[in-house]
Amino acid sequence: MNAITKHVWHVTGMDCASCVAKVTKAVERMPGVSDVEVNLMAERLSLTLAAIDGASPDAVVRQVEGLGYTVRKFDPSMAVGRPSQAPHAHAEGEAGHHHDSTHASESTLDIDPHWYESSKARIVFLLGALVAGAYVASHAVPEGSYWLYLAATLVALVPFGRRAIALARAGSPFSIETLMCVAALGAVIIGAAAESALVVLLFAIGELLEGVAAGRARAGIRSLVAMMPRTAMRRRTDGSLEEVPADALRRNDTVLVRPGERLPCDGKIVEGQSALDESPVTGESQPVSRGPGDSVVAGSVNANSALVVRVTETGADSTLARIARMVQDAAASRGATQRFIERFSAIWTPAAMVLAILVMTVPPSLFGGDWSVWVYRGLAVLLVACPCALVISVPAAMASGLSAGARSGLLVKGGAALEAIGTATVVAFDKTGTLTRGKPKVTDVLSVAGASREDVLALAAAVEANSSHPLAKALVEEARRLGLAIPPSSDAVAIPGKGVVAKIEGQAVGVGSPTWAEEDGRTIGPEFAAARGELENSGKTVAFVYRADLPFGVVALRDEPREDAAEGVARLRDLGVSAVMLTGDNPRTGAAIASGLGMKVLAGLSPARKLEEIQAMRRNGVVAMVGDGINDAPALAAANVGIAMGGGTAVALESADAAIMRDRVTGVPELVELSRATLTNVKQNVAIAIGLKLVFLVTTVAGITGLWPAILADTGATVLVTLNALRLLQWKAQ
Ligand code: ADP
Ligand code: MG
Repeated sequence: MNAITKHVWHVTGMDCASCVAKVTKAVERMPGVSDVEVNLMAERLSLTLAAIDGASPDAVVRQVEGLGYTVRKFDPSMAVGRPSQAPHAHAEGEAGHHHDSTHASESTLDIDPHWYESSKARIVFLLGALVAGAYVASHAVPEGSYWLYLAATLVALVPFGRRAIALARAGSPFSIETLMCVAALGAVIIGAAAESALVVLLFAIGELLEGVAAGRARAGIRSLVAMMPRTAMRRRTDGSLEEVPADALRRNDTVLVRPGERLPCDGKIVEGQSALDESPVTGESQPVSRGPGDSVVAGSVNANSALVVRVTETGADSTLARIARMVQDAAASRGATQRFIERFSAIWTPAAMVLAILVMTVPPSLFGGDWSVWVYRGLAVLLVACPCALVISVPAAMASGLSAGARSGLLVKGGAALEAIGTATVVAFDKTGTLTRGKPKVTDVLSVAGASREDVLALAAAVEANSSHPLAKALVEEARRLGLAIPPSSDAVAIPGKGVVAKIEGQAVGVGSPTWAEEDGRTIGPEFAAARGELENSGKTVAFVYRADLPFGVVALRDEPREDAAEGVARLRDLGVSAVMLTGDNPRTGAAIASGLGMKVLAGLSPARKLEEIQAMRRNGVVAMVGDGINDAPALAAANVGIAMGGGTAVALESADAAIMRDRVTGVPELVELSRATLTNVKQNVAIAIGLKLVFLVTTVAGITGLWPAILADTGATVLVTLNALRLLQWKAQ
């Protein structure tokens, strides 16, 4: 075996970002290992392994287990978070074969063991009993109390000491475990054995609480996909039904979904008409009506009548699973704030250790202080140096904010995108399909003398037959509706933002904006000039049709603004964010629609000019661009943050930094509100973490508080920060 192999494991027991750093560092040092990626929210470790001496998946597992974490094979279907209790055989000892889809999903991924059953809880119970025992016994034999507490401390230190040594060997000598062990041993040496035992106990309780809190944050993300049913009713070729595990579905299978059931897959409706609650993906719990040919997504509830659905995506490929993965990955992708915190805490620990040594040595040696007093204070400073609360402050808030958003159909790809949305000063909207429904309707048709309106429509439809522009679709649809004979066309060329030209019966025929026609040296003819102005002023888009360089007719189309467009723009204004419409449509049409919505407009823009305008806006602030994510990918990329809106499609997710899974403009102010709420939460967390540390640093050095308040401050801050972050899970779009 010469190949480089990719491995993925499921690692439990990582509660904060510093655990992530420890695991990453420990594994990266191993021979043959590269591309290490540790995802805290997904509890996932992935890496590539070169086939060289000493490199083996088992060695990686041993290394990580040595640090005190539990390692299991990772099954991609488990990532979907489906609580499968199916009793499949589980093959052991093949850590590399994670692609093997035959082995079972373990329910443990989805349901954390009860906190009191975890290994951390066992340590707490054992230590609690030991310390309590020492306390009771020390009353019986007061003169032996030092030795009793010493024994309790030493026993208690065994698990943490082992981990500290493993971490030191794996490249992290200044771990919180090391700090705690040094402080506890130091305290024993200077005679403070009872306090030392208490410190270790509090540390263990802190670890337990962190684990519980981190589990809650993960549960927030998991609840997204808890809606995936475990089984499906598959239709056999003879029409009979069989119940199969949802994993067993394949593309193009047909399944029956009865009223009240959730969809087991993404698919297209073959038969039936029903109302669907698509809230797992869109956040909208109001059922929407779906019928034959409509796309439906896994996790939706079929509200009223049976549907037959053809499977398009299953399991890990379903939209819902993609969303869950995206949220998990997003929680791991760090914004500027988090990177700053990480740099900061990297200096924090060594700095605090230096300070601890200074506290221990300077006052007694230079100012005649009492050695035991100052060594004690120095040890307490060591405990204050634990940066866990600070390190977890940002990711905990981000994870909660991102998963709360996902439940409202608002997806953000990571910390950087969230920061940009929360600080955006301008939101630029694409007009067609974003502010408007994107389904223009033909309203007026004018023809030159000698031709009929039907001739104009038929010719326009022939030119547009193969183009995907919304205007093109509307023209073709109208011609079909009227039952017109559409002549064959060839050599169609689309000029983006302008129009289309094709050959019909040997003649060049064009359909496009009048401005473009005039730029090309044609005249739209006096008969249409007046009508054009009037149509455009009423918010209609005029498509000019010419044949053999001569005007042939004019078709006016109107694309209605979305119902909530005006409200969305108004809410943005209330948030202090200005909204600008960018459109390739002509200035009169653009102005007519924009003034109805109460927003600014930049019209007549070619796709390239749209990019320039966005760049210009970026010079004055943070710009978010909202578009459909398909036609507008370049504009979305040009902004500080691109937001794709619509359709509940996974495509939009790939092209943008954030996505609104429902077609609604009000999703944009909601995203801004969510981002701001998250950023506020991050600030509160950083303030809590740093504030508490500073307070205890001062009180410790001043001798007001001692060892156990110092460790309690760390644990308390971590728990406070996590609880504060969990508040964000309650966030709901208004
Ligand atoms: P928007 O910015 O509203 O999405 P586009 O940039 O796609 O608009 O197009 C700008 C203008 O170019 C349209 O308003 C229309 O007048 C013209 N146009 C572009 N493509 C076509 C087409 N296929 N058929 C007719 N007109 C078109
Ligand atoms: Mg467009």
